[in-house]
Amino acid sequence: MNTEVYRFKVGDFECMAVSDGTLTYAPPIFPPPVNFLFANAPKELLDRALRRHNIQPEQWVAWVSPYICVTVNTDRHRVLVDTGADGLDPNTGRLLRNLQAEGIGPGDIDTVILTHGHPDHIAGNTDAEGKPTFPNARYVMWKGEWNFWTSEQAENKLDEHVREVLLTFARKNLPPIQRQLDLIEHEAEIVPGIRAVAAPGHTPGHMALAISSKGEQLICVSDAFLHPIHIEHPEWHAAIDMAPDQLTNTRHLLLNKVATEKALMLAFHFPFPGVGHIVQRKEGWRWQPLRTK
Ligand SMILES: [Zn+2]
Repeated sequence: MNTEVYRFKVGDFECMAVSDGTLTYAPPIFPPPVNFLFANAPKELLDRALRRHNIQPEQWVAWVSPYICVTVNTDRHRVLVDTGADGLDPNTGRLLRNLQAEGIGPGDIDTVILTHGHPDHIAGNTDAEGKPTFPNARYVMWKGEWNFWTSEQAENKLDEHVREVLLTFARKNLPPIQRQLDLIEHEAEIVPGIRAVAAPGHTPGHMALAISSKGEQLICVSDAFLHPIHIEHPEWHAAIDMAPDQLTNTRHLLLNKVATEKALMLAFHFPFPGVGHIVQRKEGWRWQPLRTK
């Protein structure tokens, strides 16, 4: 059994969480995990939250983050959500291999949805020759996100520590897909059963997805939450989150939606396969990973 793929159903839709690998976030390239993930969290409260998650704050020197893409077979469409981080690190770029092992070739995918323009979500857009990896796919992205990464806005607004690497991946992986690209600016249906949900804050045009069939629903939140502790403290943001207040608002909307609609949730950076439920306790929201054995 391939442990890098997790199959599950949403109504009639066949879904797979597919690992693209992991990246280790640690100094000197990244700030220590507590500063990177919880930039504005008061130390005492954060230490307590970390210990509840069996993390010893002083010993947490590296955050090993999963990268989890999703495929949805709606019968009419073969959809891929995000393309992973090919070329970013020796431990990333495993998406295609994992898809092939499940009998899915790049030509089988007819829709690629890009939740936002960060390298770990778009770096599998193109192959070594700079051509679209998924030749038959319509690529879909939020219009404001595309405009941000393909204009001077990115250059002007990005933090200088990350600017160069982010722009390098955007320049390599966005222009070549232009002829296959569909930009959306409303919460419209992308294919029957898969709806765009505006989820700005992590980046300007970051989007979540509501995937529904036969009364069941999966909400792909992508990077609106990077760590399960963000569910408990929606007001704690990561150093990489571009608009913290907007993000906090987005998180409340998403948590309410997932909880009240009793949906499954999938987060790109949570422990694999990143699928679970949101439960409301007296002390606030909590992440409850699905038992996947
Ligand atoms: Zn990400």
